[in-house]
Amino acid sequence: MSVKIENLFHIYNPGSPFETKALDDINLEIKAGEFVGLIGHTGSGKSTLTQHLNGLLKPSKGKIYINGEDITSKDIKLRDIRKKVGLVFQYPEHQLFEETVYKDIAFGPINLGLSEDEIAARIREAMDLVKLPFEELKDRSPFELSGGQKRRVAIAGVLAMKPEVLILDEPTAGLDPRGRDEILEQIKSLHQKVQNTVILVSHSMEDIARLVDRIIVMHKGKIALTGTSREVFKEVETLESIGLGIPQITYLMKMLKENNIQLREDILTIEEAKEEIMKWLRGRKNA
Ligand code: ADP
Ligand code: MG
Repeated sequence: MSVKIENLFHIYNPGSPFETKALDDINLEIKAGEFVGLIGHTGSGKSTLTQHLNGLLKPSKGKIYINGEDITSKDIKLRDIRKKVGLVFQYPEHQLFEETVYKDIAFGPINLGLSEDEIAARIREAMDLVKLPFEELKDRSPFELSGGQKRRVAIAGVLAMKPEVLILDEPTAGLDPRGRDEILEQIKSLHQKVQNTVILVSHSMEDIARLVDRIIVMHKGKIALTGTSREVFKEVETLESIGLGIPQITYLMKMLKENNIQLREDILTIEEAKEEIMKWLRGRKNA
């Protein structure tokens, strides 16, 4: 499913002393099956934007189309939007509330009006996707689980709705590096399997650069840059001026180049850097 955002503005507390313009004329198109990274400093408007995409927030002005359908129209039901668009909130584990893991993940599917068998199948499948052992955990209280497991339960609750558009708002915030890599891998492999549209929100370039098809950089409620990771990383000055760095390995490659070691500049991963440096070393040996 595609996502199209036209001239979207959002102002919190309009007309009060606390008025904040959180979104300032956002225009954006995401194709069906695209995997994009939405990145920006804290306060740049990422969460405000994502909450518009599942109807939780209404635009102050502007339109949003999901697969061509205007979800900002008055006649549209929230339930119909949420069938298509699944949003995993920032720190979603704060919203776990049922007495068992099973019931918590079942909440969304029950609201979709699915049969009991279908719900059971979806819970099992969603738990498998995020690598939670079904038998071991289904009857446990979500509150007794580790932080990482709670996060997975919350993500499974959204996956069990099988949304065609999946939005994850900083899904790895506060996790250790291993938990972080695992969750990102699981999101990526789900995308590869079902070709859903994925919007992954992060404030870390390192996290998303190697995963996504395209990066969208937000700054002060506007879109500052968009392009592939390699395209965006060439804009080092712009990125630094808005408080975002590029991955350390990309910096290293730039430094080498500045010292007249001619290497590609658009390196994203340590493996690519290694290959490029080895190539350069071999070239020197033969010279
Ligand atoms: P991000 O997710 O990129 O950190 P947010 O969308 O949370 O950014 O915030 C964008 C701006 O809107 C910030 O200035 C923030 O303080 C403000 N803001 C966010 N949520 C609210 C709210 N519920 N009420 C008032 N202002 C808000
Ligand atoms: Mg946020």
